[in-house]
Amino acid sequence: MKLKQLEIALQRCAGYTRPKASLEQYQTPAPLAARLLYDALMHGDIEGKRVIDPGCGTGILAIGAALLGAEAVLGIEIDERVLETARANADLLTADVTFIAGDVKDGSLPARAGACDTIVMNPPFGAQNAHADRPFIDFALAAAPVTYGIFNAGSIPFVEAYTAGRARITDKTGGRFSIKRTFAFHTRDVQEIEVEILRLERTA
Ligand code: SAH
Repeated sequence: MKLKQLEIALQRCAGYTRPKASLEQYQTPAPLAARLLYDALMHGDIEGKRVIDPGCGTGILAIGAALLGAEAVLGIEIDERVLETARANADLLTADVTFIAGDVKDGSLPARAGACDTIVMNPPFGAQNAHADRPFIDFALAAAPVTYGIFNAGSIPFVEAYTAGRARITDKTGGRFSIKRTFAFHTRDVQEIEVEILRLERTA
């Protein structure tokens, strides 16, 4: 599947019906999701691999990984209600993904999730709850040797410091996240957010 075909397929994923600000529920736009997944594919981190998408929301990253030939894909999400949308999206795109409810802060989750080669994630950026992305990084490093994550532009110093001695950043790709007015505290109709897709490799 070509990058453009993936993007067009992922565009069909339904979004959140009633997004919760406290959980930073924003669906990754299809072009950005496709970019992350294609980078991972080109690195040999998707095809035939076991992939987990923590905080999968409506499932766009998990579904894309399945469409690109992952051997097994697991989506994990704290908000069970959202998983109905994720499952419907997977059915729509005939993607084979298992979705389970779970909290990345739960220390038993990596064992429950099972063996994994690659994490793909767009975690909360911590705009509502400071440091909300930390438990995602901790889960990712506990669960898999390779992680792709979407972070706020300028996060590299934080990610490097936070993962020192545990992982190193091997690649970064810039991108854009444009979000439509969703919550009352949003002041613009469309807000452009600069992001970075980082690839982390576990070192410890
Ligand atoms: N990965 C999806 C959703 C991004 S929004 C996408 O790319 O479109 C972040 C998601 O993380 C939300 O769906 C939110 O409900 C979920 N989330 C927030 N805290 C969580 C936690 N502690 N454990 C699991 N999921 C969580």
